Amino acid sequence: MATTKQPSRTTKTAPAAKSVAKTEELNPFKIAQAQLDKAAKAMGLEKDMHAYLREPQRFLQVSIPVRMDRGGTKTFQGFRCQYNDARGPTKGGIRYHPEETADTVKALAAWMTWKCAVADIPYGGGKGGVICDPKKLSVKELERLSRGWVRAVHQIVGTYKDVPAPDVYTTPQVMAWMMDEMSVIHGANEPGFITGKPLALGGSAGRGDATAKGGMYHLREAAKVLKLNLKGATVAIQGFGNAGEYAHKLVTEMFGAKVVAVSDSKGGVYSAAGLDFAKLREFKARKGQVQNFPGSKKITNAELLELKVDVLIPAGIENQIRSDNAANVKAKIVLELANGPTTPEADVILEKNGVLHIPDFLANSGGVTVSYFEWVQNLYGYYWTAEEVYEKLDKKMTSAFNAVYAKRKELKVDMRVAAYAVAVGRVAEAVKLRGIVA
Ligand code: GLU
Repeated sequence: MATTKQPSRTTKTAPAAKSVAKTEELNPFKIAQAQLDKAAKAMGLEKDMHAYLREPQRFLQVSIPVRMDRGGTKTFQGFRCQYNDARGPTKGGIRYHPEETADTVKALAAWMTWKCAVADIPYGGGKGGVICDPKKLSVKELERLSRGWVRAVHQIVGTYKDVPAPDVYTTPQVMAWMMDEMSVIHGANEPGFITGKPLALGGSAGRGDATAKGGMYHLREAAKVLKLNLKGATVAIQGFGNAGEYAHKLVTEMFGAKVVAVSDSKGGVYSAAGLDFAKLREFKARKGQVQNFPGSKKITNAELLELKVDVLIPAGIENQIRSDNAANVKAKIVLELANGPTTPEADVILEKNGVLHIPDFLANSGGVTVSYFEWVQNLYGYYWTAEEVYEKLDKKMTSAFNAVYAKRKELKVDMRVAAYAVAVGRVAEAVKLRGIVA
């Protein structure tokens, strides 16, 4: 166990917007616990069960020594958190991030638990991470680090124990190296050990855009509730990574909505006439940023959140909508494709202002749902078409949305509390049936 002091993400991840209320909690794990506490109260969760579900079942910190290209060995710190496995093997991605911390990994593992439960797939929740800056590593170093992570955690992960996947800065290629390393350790092919693999190694059709696609099914259901016509509806997207980029493409293709603003870590762009997806993607690939896209006006990440649009899609990082800016959000629907973009204080403000707010672990559960389909196909050795995958994904997302919306009406709570009530109820039932908590 290393004793290295973890860098704090709390100040770094918050954008340099207006002043954040001094009392506002920005530690993701504390936020995850506060969300659970609020839901536990609303749903009347038993005290002992609540206490059990507040902490992860297992947390492993490992040292990963990596031979560097220029000679010498650099030791990286890695993590794997298995939050709860009552409903099935723990499941969740691995993040490569310079500001990764134990608490971020724990929070994300908790959210994975609720995500798999709300999507009703037979998994518990987990998350992994490595403190590193992948942009500063060569391809060979990245491969050695990825194989090293598997060697360091292999005793606690596996096809029926804990199934990793991609997350921030981990790609299908990283999954391929990890799958190979596990196969070497086991002396047998282990495609079901990890998901998000390239198609040639047992990946699933439809996994690439699954997070955004799942989000679109939630958006369609939310629009039905509000009787909002998505054709011509205006959309702002914060974050232009996998989820944000596909959201731009799909919201245009599936509904004919108009994306008027997008941003990345360097800032945003706005165009009242709408931003053309193919042209913007080509520009971003060439320039490494969206700002200065021809025909657009520069805006900041903070301004993007406050635009007068029908739909706001936070698809970047944590703690973006907070007590200091939530009242300025004018969107009718907020679809959280990012994990943890809204603080508990901001949740209250959005609800008070009548925003239909689709919380992260419901809105972005399409990714892990198609990961589940990938795992099923790996175990089966039989592969589905993209159409089959999307049809199954649509069914899962639609029923998850409807279960949460019904719970919202039943308990008279906001969508996040309702999503927790559905998910925690399912996990608690499994915990009880196993006889873990009486
Ligand atoms: N990292 C993704 C998430 O946060 C996907 C996890 C998975 O596919 O297991 O939902």
